[in-house]
Amino acid sequence: MARILIIEDEPSMRMGLIDNLEFEGYETDSASDGALGLKKINNGKFDLIILDVMLPKLSGFDVCKKVREAGNKTPIILLTAKGEEIDKVVGLELGADDYITKPFSLRELIARIKAVLRRSGESDQKSDSVRIGRLELHFNTFNAFENGIEVQMSHREFELLEYLWHHHNQTVSRDSLLKEVWKQEATTTRTVDNFILRLRQKIETDPDHPKIILTVHGIGYKLISG
Ligand code: CA
Repeated sequence: MARILIIEDEPSMRMGLIDNLEFEGYETDSASDGALGLKKINNGKFDLIILDVMLPKLSGFDVCKKVREAGNKTPIILLTAKGEEIDKVVGLELGADDYITKPFSLRELIARIKAVLRRSGESDQKSDSVRIGRLELHFNTFNAFENGIEVQMSHREFELLEYLWHHHNQTVSRDSLLKEVWKQEATTTRTVDNFILRLRQKIETDPDHPKIILTVHGIGYKLISG
């Protein structure tokens, strides 16, 4: 899971961000001023930095500038105050990836975080994305997108689709899917069929007439890929 550094001097805002991001499943670290924040950036490895602009000791702009000057490309989201339009322009020029204006909703922040992490993930590992039907899939990060919008998929759906993908154009029996995807967990071939139906709803243009995950009667399924 992504590790996020929060640099914010206001205690209630800092604690709120820590609680909410950890609740969302992110790992966090934090700093209450710019100098300490920069020290943590230089001594640690983060996937994302949330950086307040107005900070004691070293401003968010200064931190951003120093990070980029050092060749560190960790994505940065700036927290700017309402009315400080100039901050956004300066921040982006200094190498921030995005900004969010206080007060913001948690939902908005999470959406920005996901978008920034996705962009940085894509530039790191572009080759790991695979197109299957309507979806673009990143099996390594368990993300699926349709026209750039994230599609919710369960871990098991990913595993099933990934297994079929690795065996594309081959008939895969229900029993082997149970063994390889469901491991030793007790379930029935009916469960496999139900998951296939759900995957078709997400990837097929016409789920009632599948062209990608075909049924091989009496045996199992075959994922067609050109
Ligand atoms: Ca502040």
